[in-house]
Amino acid sequence: MAERKSWSLGGALRNMFGRQTIDESTWEDLEDALLSADFGPTITDEVIEELREQVSRFNTTDPRDLKRMLREVIEERLSKFDTTLNLSARPAVTLMVGVNGVGKTTTIGKFARFLRNFNRSVVVGAADTFRAAAVEQLDTWAMRADVRIVRPQQYGQDPASVAYQTVEVAMNEGFEMVIIDTAGRLQTKAGLMDELTKIHRVVEKLTPVSEVLLVLDATTGQNGVSQAEAFIEHAGVTGLVITKLDGSAKGGFVLSVQERTGLPIKLIGTGEGINDLTGFTPHVFAEQLLA
Ligand code: GDP
Repeated sequence: MAERKSWSLGGALRNMFGRQTIDESTWEDLEDALLSADFGPTITDEVIEELREQVSRFNTTDPRDLKRMLREVIEERLSKFDTTLNLSARPAVTLMVGVNGVGKTTTIGKFARFLRNFNRSVVVGAADTFRAAAVEQLDTWAMRADVRIVRPQQYGQDPASVAYQTVEVAMNEGFEMVIIDTAGRLQTKAGLMDELTKIHRVVEKLTPVSEVLLVLDATTGQNGVSQAEAFIEHAGVTGLVITKLDGSAKGGFVLSVQERTGLPIKLIGTGEGINDLTGFTPHVFAEQLLA
């Protein structure tokens, strides 16, 4: 059997599925488990209602049937979203956006390596030009991932010009993938959104942007989504990256965040190491969630 992930519901549901029969306490345990895994009250109610209906339709009292049904219901809901990365353009440009601290820089390093593992050539652009530390940190990750980096000539350089230069390098030198880091200063929301819009517009003078990935931290759950609302409204986000799933018991966040934002999850981060990033496959995730 696969190793149990921290975000699995397995532990919370063990008692329930260990019982002889499905009874009222089964439903109470299930509700508690779904709520504490951050499915959110609405999805929790809907899932339980659907399962009650199935249990009565199939006339079963066997908790193992309930477990299978739960997996199917979760998988079906997760599968409503197209989670494939759209990176067929050459170069394929990804803008990485999100609030500081969510794991954006780390994710860029991991994503660069992920693409290198598929034999794609990658250049990253350090367009968070106001934080010296951000550029240095990205530099370190670019080195680890063994990919090219385009840095600002001086701190505070127009982020859009760094993004433009990065795409130019890709086009002139034949890099297939471009990943652009952006600022995540929440204090200056309007200014930041203008900056992102400008980066987008300037890059598209050269080539269309393929993906705008919003990075969200699973450990902050729904609060993190509220914080990132401005990005969802103004930054043209095409998909989500969920980080720090390894440190969270909140596997249900993966479902609730897609339904709340209407955006597909395209990548998940499961650790601080360079290889701790995977694509998001609903079937696999549903299995892991119930392991
Ligand atoms: P940024 O400010 O958004 O660029 O965030 P960083 O990339 O600097 O990451 C902030 C912290 O989160 C660092 O300590 C990272 O090691 C950590 N981190 C990032 N992604 C993950 C993850 O998937 N799992 C865990 N456990 N930690 C992560």
